[in-house]
Amino acid sequence: MPSSPASQPLRLPSIDSLLRHPACQPLASRFGREALLASLRQLLDDLREPLRAGHLQAVEVTPEVLAGRAGERLAIQHRSHIRRVFNLTGTVLHTNLGRALLPEEAIEAVQLAARYPLNLEFDLHSGKRGDRDDLIEGLIRELTGAEAVTVVNNNAAAVLLTLNSLGARKEGIISRGELIEIGGAFRIPDIMARAGVKLHEVGTTNRTHAKDYEAAIGPRSGLVMRVHASNYSIEGFTARVPTIELAQLAHRHGLPLLEDLGSGSLLDLTRWGLPAEPTVRQALLDGADIVTFSGDKLLGGPQAGLIVGRKELIARIKKNPLKRALRVDKLTLAALEAVLGLYRDPERLAERLPSLRLLTRSRADMLAQAERLQPSLARMLGEGWNVSAVPALGMIGSGSQPVARLPSAALCLRPDASKRLRGRRLLGLEAAFRRLDIPVLGRIDDDALWLDMRQLDDEAAWLAQLDQLKPQGQDA
Ligand SMILES: *Cc1c(COP(=O)(O)O)cnc(C)c1O
Repeated sequence: MPSSPASQPLRLPSIDSLLRHPACQPLASRFGREALLASLRQLLDDLREPLRAGHLQAVEVTPEVLAGRAGERLAIQHRSHIRRVFNLTGTVLHTNLGRALLPEEAIEAVQLAARYPLNLEFDLHSGKRGDRDDLIEGLIRELTGAEAVTVVNNNAAAVLLTLNSLGARKEGIISRGELIEIGGAFRIPDIMARAGVKLHEVGTTNRTHAKDYEAAIGPRSGLVMRVHASNYSIEGFTARVPTIELAQLAHRHGLPLLEDLGSGSLLDLTRWGLPAEPTVRQALLDGADIVTFSGDKLLGGPQAGLIVGRKELIARIKKNPLKRALRVDKLTLAALEAVLGLYRDPERLAERLPSLRLLTRSRADMLAQAERLQPSLARMLGEGWNVSAVPALGMIGSGSQPVARLPSAALCLRPDASKRLRGRRLLGLEAAFRRLDIPVLGRIDDDALWLDMRQLDDEAAWLAQLDQLKPQGQDA
């Protein structure tokens, strides 16, 4: 290729001169010299070809401009991959968005546990080695009536560990109506197989009777299992054996009853006007020997799986070598203890526990909020969008009460366009919201983008970034 016939060939500054240039000093202190050096090298490499082809002007390769470009690249590279978002989907305990938000008490406890050494497995009374489960056992006993507890990574781990500890090489008896898939790869039959328990399914999808369980019990039986059908509901011609009866039946044959409650709740949620969810205490009172449930669903705490129930069974579960592989860390335990502590004062729980506070927000409050924000959003999006504050329906999420809908309110954004263009404009706006500094996640339904108000508590931050939407909104 012939070289360009410029009289004064344009040259790139040297790396050394750039590194010494004042424009690069703030970048060196922010990102470190090595990262800056690598970024500048890459930038200069990328510019060599356009330079040779004569596509660059002198003003494009000044040290100030090059420092600016290197800084932009570094800022993107160094941006955290964990990003705060606005969850305006209407689903409160959204598994993909991190489920429950922790209360301040738990955040403080996590900071303390992160910053200092602590008595994680050390008994301060005796000076001897302790057990990390002891840190929350007292609270769990008080709040659920259980004799003992052990905590693992999540409820999936709790189910796996319990099945493997109590039923390996034996049969696990379960109703066909409870062979559920929770999402991802968590399916009860597969977990049973991985736990080494032979699945013995009884009854039918819609109806299972005591005599079905009775007929299945034999010398190879190891346990009876009940799973809360978290994410679907069977209605119509149905029959299930009440836990109290199922427990008696299992005990007559010397078998433990294991109940996977999924979300599980420590208190009766109907006192806050929420749909009834089985409580851990009731399941134990009804005779379940072991109950498993999640820490970050309705409980409103950190990701964890709680296994509670009879002392001798918990002791067997804790001896399983898998326990070590599935155990929780100190940060989780610190957060969990703080959250459980709030349950001691049910009267103030809805003020202090974020998930409960969000779940119990009144529709009037959310509608007023939508009405307050409607003018700013309508102005920002401009013509071509119809913005209205409307009643909407949300969900608890995480498989709790899949058919129950929570009365809520939303900003409903409807494109003013022919049917043919509507879909594209909606997707364009949805993507623009997702590209904001704090991405805003809504829900597309019925030819509109819905922004549910339930979780919008930082209105100032939300409004402050709306002007970034402007160009998108207008030409979307
Ligand atoms: C959610 C759920 C699980 C899994 O719990 P994770 O905490 O997500 O691991 C297991 N069983 C049931 C019934 C559930 O609803």
